[in-house]
Amino acid sequence: MTLRHRRLCAVTAACSFAVASFVTGAVAFGQGAQPNANAVTLGPSPLGPSAVNLPDMGSTANVLISRADEYQIGRMILHNLRNENQVLEDPEATEYMQNLGSRLGAQAQEGTQQFTFFVVRDKAVNAFAVPGGFIGTNYGLILLTNNESELAGVLAHEIGHVVQRHIARAVQAQSRQSLPLMAALLGAVLIGMAGGGDAAMGMIAMAQGTAMQQQINFTRMEEAEADRVGISFLSAASFDPNGMAAFFSAMGREEGVQLYTIPDMLKNHPVTTARIAEARARAAQLPAKTSHVDPPSYSMIRERLRVLTSEPEADLRPYYARLRSNGVDTLATRYGAALASLKAGDAAGAAQALRVMLSANPDITLLHSALGEAQMAAGQQDEALKTFAHAIELSPRNVPLTVRYAEALLKANRAQQAHQMLLDLFNNAVPTPEQIRLTALTASSAGDTGDAYYYMAEYHISSGDLMLATQQLDLALAEPRLTEIQRKRFLARREEIRGYLREQREQRGGKS
Ligand SMILES: [Zn+2]
Repeated sequence: MTLRHRRLCAVTAACSFAVASFVTGAVAFGQGAQPNANAVTLGPSPLGPSAVNLPDMGSTANVLISRADEYQIGRMILHNLRNENQVLEDPEATEYMQNLGSRLGAQAQEGTQQFTFFVVRDKAVNAFAVPGGFIGTNYGLILLTNNESELAGVLAHEIGHVVQRHIARAVQAQSRQSLPLMAALLGAVLIGMAGGGDAAMGMIAMAQGTAMQQQINFTRMEEAEADRVGISFLSAASFDPNGMAAFFSAMGREEGVQLYTIPDMLKNHPVTTARIAEARARAAQLPAKTSHVDPPSYSMIRERLRVLTSEPEADLRPYYARLRSNGVDTLATRYGAALASLKAGDAAGAAQALRVMLSANPDITLLHSALGEAQMAAGQQDEALKTFAHAIELSPRNVPLTVRYAEALLKANRAQQAHQMLLDLFNNAVPTPEQIRLTALTASSAGDTGDAYYYMAEYHISSGDLMLATQQLDLALAEPRLTEIQRKRFLARREEIRGYLREQREQRGGKS
């Protein structure tokens, strides 16, 4: 049994209770976006037939931990990373990575293995997969890539580790540990590792009771397997299959330049000239596809990350001015310059620059949402709401756009409208935890206390904390002004969680 994302039927506008304490207490902003199409699912689907020929795993596969257990471990780790503020919460960047990764993941399992991609707040050049299909990419790695196929190459390699169940094999040694303990230990190892590292590496370190993580890697065979499988995904998803080899050799160059800071990716995924040559040879064997053209979002998201991850007091305007005077004047660098202006407090200047860019590129959603944000920051509230309303007409249910629009509506004291818009999104796409939290906040501001508690319950479900979820549902059910529809919905959800917990307990009992 799995607890799936639950759709709601309609906004219940009747209730007009105010809950200031709820807003200041439970619903806090900051941490918490899960970039995931699978966020509120309490367990993955079974492994289906694969779209690409994968090496036979042989008889070891059936002694691995279950996919449901893997998923639970992964979700707990992600929850811990998020609590440690290691996950970069940005709806635009998250959506970009999730879209890119999903295209590759779709080649692997015909959609039955869910993948969750997120950006890690770390400048070290690294990417890692944790159990359950959760794949983190440090922003430092994204900035180092030269094109989208290189970035896709890294994701494809990590997806390769997931689908070949290399990580599950590492976990297997620890299968007698309780899952929460394992997740806590692994989370601690991940967070503690300076500059990150393959999560599986941390896990193997635990299994062997050693802190000498550098000595422990995926085996050479597993690395080759992840390369081989990853390149086939790259090609099948119409990326340049040379992307992986190109990035490896770019990292090799990086290593040559900075001898004292060997990228972690190199430590965990040792790159040799033989490996690069093999990746090139393999790419050359694949049928020629039309060459991949990077979408504008690739380089725009890179500039976005550059600005978002710069020190709070850093002013990147001189950086972009220098680029421009050196003849580097692209849409992405102009977008970066506008975000740098916004960050430095020149919101009006940013809005002006973004308006110019948008008139030449009316199809680029990132420009619409940045303009709306800049206008809000510049105190041009009416213009901002117009910008968002127009943009959402062009891209209905675009997730980052809806989130930004809802944030603006909330600031403009139009919580009811924000609530309705988020509810519509909630009903049509599996939300990230951050979205669920924002939905709770808008419900609360709109005076719908019961729904606010209900969404907080969904938020806890999405991060795997079912006990807190049932507490929130108890609070929701204690609300005196619920409609009959709300009461039924909350009761059904609470029963669903209790049933799931019972089932889990029975399974655990049966195992040991
Ligand atoms: Zn690897």
